[in-house]
Amino acid sequence: MEKRELTCIVCPVGCRVAVEIDGEEMRVSGNQCKRGEAYCRQEVSCPVRTVTSLVAVVGGEHPLCPVKTAQAVPKDRIPEVLAILRSLRAQAPIAMGDVLLRDIAGTGIDLVATANRAADAGSAVSEQAPV
Ligand code: SF4
Repeated sequence: MEKRELTCIVCPVGCRVAVEIDGEEMRVSGNQCKRGEAYCRQEVSCPVRTVTSLVAVVGGEHPLCPVKTAQAVPKDRIPEVLAILRSLRAQAPIAMGDVLLRDIAGTGIDLVATANRAADAGSAVSEQAPV
C-alpha cells in the first residue's frame, strides 16, 4: 500500500490530507470537505493546473496580454504549453475572453485572454496616412 501526504490547495484552510492507495482503491482522510477529497484524488491520479501567463501582442497599445488556459491542463504538459506561449503572437485588438489559441499542445483546452488590449491607434493612422 502506498501512502501520500498532501496539502489541499483548494481553499486557504490548507488541510493536511493523507491518501492511501491500495491497487484501484483510494482512501482519503484529513480533508474537511468533499472538494478537498476530489482535489486530492485528482492530484494523486492525474495532477492538473490552470496555466496563467502573458503572451506578446502585435499591433497593440500594450506589448503583452495576460492569458489563462480555459481549464486545468495535466501538469506534465505545462512545459510544452509554456513553450507555445513564448512563441505566440496575438493580434490586437483583443477582448477579454477571446480564444487566442484552440487545443493548446493537443490538450483539447483553449487559451483565453484575461484582459482587453486595444489596437495601437498610432500604427492604424500611419497605415492610412499616405492618401
Ligand atoms: S479539504 Fe476543504 S476545507 Fe480543507 S483545504 Fe481543502 S477545500 Fe479547504
